[in-house]
Amino acid sequence: MEHSHLIKPLLDGVYPTIAYGKGVYLFDTNEKDYIDGSSGAVTASIGHGVPEIIEALYEQAKRISFVYRAQFTSEPAELLAKKLSEITKGDVNWAFFVNSGSEATETAMKIAIQHWQEQGIYTKNKIISRWISYHGITLGALSMSGHVGRRERFVPLLEDFPSVSAPYCYRCPYNDTYPSCNLLCALELEREIKRIGKKYIAAFIAEPIIGAAGGAIDPPRGYYEKIKEICEKNDVLFIADEVMTGIGRTGKMLAMENWNVAPDIVALGKGMTAGYTPMAATLVSDKVMAPILKGSKIIMSGHTYSANPQSAAVSLAVISYIEKKDLLKQAEQIGDYLRTQLLTLAKDYPMIGDVRGKGLLLGIEFVEDQQQKRPFPKQFKVTTLIIQKCMEKGLLVYPANSGDEGVGGDAIIISPPLVITKKEVDELIIRLKSALTEVNKELNQIKSD
Ligand code: PMP
Repeated sequence: MEHSHLIKPLLDGVYPTIAYGKGVYLFDTNEKDYIDGSSGAVTASIGHGVPEIIEALYEQAKRISFVYRAQFTSEPAELLAKKLSEITKGDVNWAFFVNSGSEATETAMKIAIQHWQEQGIYTKNKIISRWISYHGITLGALSMSGHVGRRERFVPLLEDFPSVSAPYCYRCPYNDTYPSCNLLCALELEREIKRIGKKYIAAFIAEPIIGAAGGAIDPPRGYYEKIKEICEKNDVLFIADEVMTGIGRTGKMLAMENWNVAPDIVALGKGMTAGYTPMAATLVSDKVMAPILKGSKIIMSGHTYSANPQSAAVSLAVISYIEKKDLLKQAEQIGDYLRTQLLTLAKDYPMIGDVRGKGLLLGIEFVEDQQQKRPFPKQFKVTTLIIQKCMEKGLLVYPANSGDEGVGGDAIIISPPLVITKKEVDELIIRLKSALTEVNKELNQIKSD
């Protein structure tokens, strides 16, 4: 047989071929069904094959699919920028459209630096991020990412940006407990700004809930309030990377609403178009835009496909679907139900060490010993084994591991489409149970070998 010419994630991996999708289910060309328990890469937030979205895509395609943004603006792009300003709290009233989450965070970084340059401040060029974190795969975005696995090959090419510890209570970087810790992990930001010198720091970037690098790690109460206070005090912009959390995933349009904290810049992606077409955005506050509007009046970034009218029409249709179906409330309610089911599962499966997250962005961390929180040895490749077994049982889950053994462990994200019903959650749990039972068996086998 002729070999495949497609470069897949694992070159020697075997992947089923997708045939079609409907709601929370995907079907391969052998008619095997899968529950999309991760919405792909936390993307397909309204489920697959929604007629309204396909209709919107088709209607726009009939008018115009592509224009170059330096030659034309378009109705869908204008309407989407307005809509995003309306549905987000705070003053992130400007939208710069790009095509991927990596471009959105990298643009956020550039806009933050430009914001200071326009005021004659040329030293504020560094971005502080968190170790662990994930902000994207391009070199700028990767420079801001605390993800060993994705960085190590390219470290010499990356900017040497500073970082602070993640608010990872399950494995507290200070071996402390909340609330007596007094939020040391947030205070570390102030110390790092002092260490580097605030005149060199343009911004601090954080995923509201740490996704790909850690498995839905949500911070303790008061963390973001403290972070925002430290940023303001030190003239450091606060960038919220909402690529994974934005547009409803946690039960709010922006996850930062969970803590009532207003970012200066927001990166969006994934859920913006729910995967129907590629599109992402960098939302910019009036405050950040002000010196740029007074100064050069140009954002020095952009891509051929930026502000693509077809994708903008899709995003508008997705947001309107979320509003019409009240999916924010649904994410919260069904998220609570799913979390309860996962916590119940933890009683029967001691390998479940932690269940965390918000809304329908939930994470499970797996451990060899529940009491001691001892991680599995790396060579057991537990995350890979879980993903494989789930897939065999017809359940898709998302691996979340930074590759830094010293910080995190084996974790997965469970983030089904926001439209998932209780009955479908029950089916998801049945499949997960069945996969974990087999994982247990295999691990016992490995240990006894
Ligand atoms: N930021 C976050 C928080 C993400 O989760 C991701 C993707 N996992 C990215 C940025 C990068 O997005 P993309 O893969 O679309 O470039």
